[in-house]
Amino acid sequence: MDYLGKEIKKLGFGLMRLPMIGKDIDIDQTKVMVDEFLAKGFTYFDTAYVYGEDGASEKAAKEALVDRHPRESFQLASKLPIWCCETKEDMQKVFDISLERTGAGYFDYYLNHSLSNDKLDKLEEFGAWEFVAQMKEKGLVRHMGFSFHDTAEVLDELLTKHPEQEFVQLQINYNDWESESVQSGKCYEVARKHGKPVIIMEPVRGGALAELTPEIQKIFKEVNPDLSVASWAIRFAADLEGVITVLSGMSDTEQMRDNLSYMTDFKPLDEKEKETITKVAEILANTPTVPCTNCKYCIEGCPEKINIPELFKVFNRRNVYGALEQTGNRFNEIVKDGGKPSDCIACGQCEGVCPQHIEIISLLSDISEKFE
Ligand code: SF4
Ligand code: SF4
Repeated sequence: MDYLGKEIKKLGFGLMRLPMIGKDIDIDQTKVMVDEFLAKGFTYFDTAYVYGEDGASEKAAKEALVDRHPRESFQLASKLPIWCCETKEDMQKVFDISLERTGAGYFDYYLNHSLSNDKLDKLEEFGAWEFVAQMKEKGLVRHMGFSFHDTAEVLDELLTKHPEQEFVQLQINYNDWESESVQSGKCYEVARKHGKPVIIMEPVRGGALAELTPEIQKIFKEVNPDLSVASWAIRFAADLEGVITVLSGMSDTEQMRDNLSYMTDFKPLDEKEKETITKVAEILANTPTVPCTNCKYCIEGCPEKINIPELFKVFNRRNVYGALEQTGNRFNEIVKDGGKPSDCIACGQCEGVCPQHIEIISLLSDISEKFE
């Protein structure tokens, strides 16, 4: 069956976690990655107004991609963060800044960013749906949709109310497929019911599904020693019907080459592979971790400059591996450059923007008790 974006190859380049040199994006390495990606026939790039400090991701998209390759040879997506808009007029400002930073002339895909129930009233009040539709009428947007982090029920209501939306971007991975909080599987079914093609984000759960315990890695390696642990997560997502592309936030050339090695000539999962993934998902479901995807939305507005995602990473590592010494050292490194968990003043800014609805304040208090 034909659907929007069917012709796009099933690996998209997420520009959220680009390689870094200190606090700056490593633009030379990004250029190498962009070129290799395009050379293998992949064409979809995903950025956003809020990715990186002061629009660093959109600016990198210009420098590494837009300025160096014919505009029609790739698709570029960006997003409207309603939480950055204080007035209706700010939507236009944000959009214009994204266009200017990327130099793209138009966006192939443009999304209302990170929607959840608590943002919907503001979207209606500001006329955000109509705004994006107007940008489309002007030829500045080719296809409009939204990225989403809430329950299947909310998604169902949203798609019923807004059938004009052409696609949805969902967090889908084998770890969240059955999860009652993320509801990957149920949200996917709702999108299918409404006939909407899906762009998949967080297939590797912010990298967590690439860094599994040695016991779990062994389960994968026994079935296929040549495949990386991350490949199982990407292939699980790419195997679904009606998918435009699977976004992978690639952070270095090595990761990209690994992704390209099995996605250039993508082979669907066989029965044995599906069973293996189900087995690993069951093990993970019984291992409690903080479901942080390292999106970093919480960092910029934190008045105490607490590096929340890095603290959660360390906390998860200690819980899953019991690696006391290494995690203790890493903790000291993190708080050397930023705030300590006990510096949190419970202002709630971070919880207001966290797409995973994590109870950050109470977890920071736990981390403080364990590590400080
Ligand atoms: S609640 Fe704490 S961690 Fe969150 S933004 Fe405020 S100070 Fe930072
Ligand atoms: S705590 Fe939430 S907002 Fe912060 S990085 Fe993790 S998932 Fe993103």
